[in-house]
Amino acid sequence: MTPAKAYAAQTHTSPLAPWNFERREVGAQDVQFDINYCGVCHSDLHQIRNEWFPGIFPMVPGHEIVGKVTKVGAAVKKFKVGDLVGVGCLVDSCRGCENCQHGLEQYCNNAVGTYNATGKDGLPTYGGYSSVMVVHEDFTLKVSEKLNLAAVAPLLCAGITTYSPLRHWKIGKGHKVAVLGLGGLGHMAVKFANAFGAEVTVLSTSAGKEAEAKKLGAHKFVLTTDKAQAKSVRGYFDFIVDTVSAPHDFRFYLGMLRTDGTHILVGLPSQPLEIPPFSIVGGRKSVAGSSIGGIPETQEMLDYCAEKNIVSDIELININYINQAYDRMLKGDVRYRFVIDMATL
Ligand code: NAP
Ligand code: ZN
Ligand code: ZN
Repeated sequence: MTPAKAYAAQTHTSPLAPWNFERREVGAQDVQFDINYCGVCHSDLHQIRNEWFPGIFPMVPGHEIVGKVTKVGAAVKKFKVGDLVGVGCLVDSCRGCENCQHGLEQYCNNAVGTYNATGKDGLPTYGGYSSVMVVHEDFTLKVSEKLNLAAVAPLLCAGITTYSPLRHWKIGKGHKVAVLGLGGLGHMAVKFANAFGAEVTVLSTSAGKEAEAKKLGAHKFVLTTDKAQAKSVRGYFDFIVDTVSAPHDFRFYLGMLRTDGTHILVGLPSQPLEIPPFSIVGGRKSVAGSSIGGIPETQEMLDYCAEKNIVSDIELININYINQAYDRMLKGDVRYRFVIDMATL
């Protein structure tokens, strides 16, 4: 066993605080690495607060993990000591179902989450707000030496979660796409949609984000709380990529889609959303969803980012700032992803 230092929530009402545990022994196909950086996803907050389902406590969140390999099992083929690697939201899956065989491990009924889940060994999984990680090589990603490592971390969730639907719906040249919510996921959606050639509009509740939205690659910015601005995009978009973490008015945004437009949900507010039938029947509109991305597509996205020099815009924090970072995240005050410097653990 390998001792690990971490920050954990002991219950769904307690703040994160230092906690020690042990990682499993490195198995034949396992990769062990020291964690250098871990991104802070809004899903971490949803889960430590039991907003989706009752969680497994103590909980060590974190699924945007990058670091350097320190040990590999005897049968490991893809990695060696010293390699830069990443781990996202998944650490295992059944490997046999149709989804797994098509590289869609995220839709496997037996997919194992990086934390707040139970591994095949029957033990809880613990995430990246920790010093060391042990993961099967099939769920370990190769990370380029070319990019700023701290700014690569958020690609492992925010990156793939926005890259995947943009690729699935073949969004690019000739499309008008709206990115709803400019936080961690939203700012990556802007970068990718711009890189794929689409006309990108940010729909935001924060007036102060306009200049930065344009710098990130948005062509237009609509302050949704301003009636005149919202009216100017009625029936305008082919796609809306919805990254909002809190309940919001669907009818309002569906009115911004043109005929045959698609509203793609990636945000996961804890309460059900209401879809008024008239708002999709008129205009033959679709409401769809998308979850992270499979392992092959995550590697494809990381390689694409290395080639195009795409990383996240981050605010690097010490781990003892994590509870304040969550408070700011709840206020929409993230520019645009907190990343924990694990050397401060
Ligand atoms: P985040 O950084 O907190 O960004 C969310 C943004 O949503 C905020 O910055 C804000 O942008 C906007 N927003 C917040 N409250 C709002 C409200 N009441 N009405 C309208 N807009 C509001 O969060 P994130 O890490 O990007 O995650 C976003 C959501 O995606 C979370 O629910 C998370 O759990 C989910 N998620 C899903 C997947 C998946 O696989 N599908 C993966 C990762 C995360 P403005 O200031 O611009 O309005
Ligand atoms: Zn996430
Ligand atoms: Zn499977």
